[in-house]
Amino acid sequence: MTTQFTDLGLIEPLLRALAAENYTTPTPIQAQAIPLLLQGRDLLGIAQTGTGKTAAFTLPMLQRLAAEKIQAAPKTARALILAPTRELAVQIADSIRAYGAHLNLRHTVILGGVGQSPQVKAMARGVDILVATPGRLLDLVNQKAVNLTGTGVLVLDEADRMLDMGFIRDVRRIVAHLPRKRQSLLFSATMPADVAKLAQDMLIEPVRVEVTPQATTVEKITQSVYFIESAGKQSLLTSLLNDEALTKVIVFTRTKHRANRVAEQLSKSGLPADAIHGNKSQSARQGALDRFKNGESRVLVATDIAARGIDVDGISHVINFELPNEPESYVHRIGRTARAGAGGIAIAFCDPTERPYLKSIEKLIRVQLAVAGSPPREVRTDRSEATPARDPRPVREARPERADSTADSRSPDAKRNPNRRRRRPRRSPLQKAA
Ligand code: AMP
Repeated sequence: MTTQFTDLGLIEPLLRALAAENYTTPTPIQAQAIPLLLQGRDLLGIAQTGTGKTAAFTLPMLQRLAAEKIQAAPKTARALILAPTRELAVQIADSIRAYGAHLNLRHTVILGGVGQSPQVKAMARGVDILVATPGRLLDLVNQKAVNLTGTGVLVLDEADRMLDMGFIRDVRRIVAHLPRKRQSLLFSATMPADVAKLAQDMLIEPVRVEVTPQATTVEKITQSVYFIESAGKQSLLTSLLNDEALTKVIVFTRTKHRANRVAEQLSKSGLPADAIHGNKSQSARQGALDRFKNGESRVLVATDIAARGIDVDGISHVINFELPNEPESYVHRIGRTARAGAGGIAIAFCDPTERPYLKSIEKLIRVQLAVAGSPPREVRTDRSEATPARDPRPVREARPERADSTADSRSPDAKRNPNRRRRRPRRSPLQKAA
């Protein structure tokens, strides 16, 4: 029998809040982690966004804080959650608000990019839970506006991303302000050496919970790649987006500048799109995210960092306009679709300079991406036309995919001569090994 939330030892006000969210069955990480966390254990969670990890750490934390019936002293936080990005911090706070709706616990968020005085004010009385990004929190600790000496629970979320963003030092400095006697949790999608070291230093006899190894999550997503010159990418994107089957789309770029350009060009083509990246103000980012969430805009163009932790249900497609130079980012990116067990579609655009990135990605996910239809004729340059034919790689069987058929229907050239764009599908050596 499958575990239910009622089997996990959670108190009634939490069960009621979960029922209001229409959650009945815990996800694997919730089923495994919640009972152990309720016992007070430290935890190392290997899990990416989309696994339900936020509830896995929030629910036992709320329960513990509610049971202790202690009031936070001024400027202190009884529990601290560190997140690498502002968006993720805001989303965690949203979860706390939802799950804690029937408990009398106070929480606040401290993040960079917005004025600090409301944050100082919010901390003046003390809070039960503080959600923070590391840089601003450290500033406020140094200014003595925040005191962490009474913090009994620490969660470090998306530790690998903290590392990528250069926050590990700040994190270590923050942890040094906490009491040694505490419950500590560290979550990370991947486990690079520096994160493993941090976990070793931060956690005491942790239980290790690992869910959905990357390949399993990735397998639920239908992935394909277009080999295309950089100059043809914008037109290809526009033509793909003309298909209304792409209902909620995140487009990823490597740089902020490119994110802006892509969004502007789409808007010019009559496809309203917002860009989010680190140079935008917090309110602009939140506004764009809200418009995307509530369906006002169908397309969100994002850089990796800005998109980190974005929790929007029902994303139909992830388009990698530019491939990331770190293969793990590809996994994070495409994980925006196929949430909570659903399927999803990921489409990559790969220009000749990005071939090495694609190689690393395929090595990591142990799958060779299916080569999608050739771009429409009008967007090709002479060289791009030759690119698919020159691709010597065997490809795996392409699963049926809406975006593929879109490209086909728009590509008379590809239809006339299908061999030019795709070799006979056969299993890749990597797949055989897998
Ligand atoms: P997370 O991995 O914490 O970012 O959560 C991923 C998504 O799954 C979020 O949209 C949650 O609201 C949703 N979610 C979390 N737990 C459950 C559950 N037990 N049942 C259904 N959806 C859930």
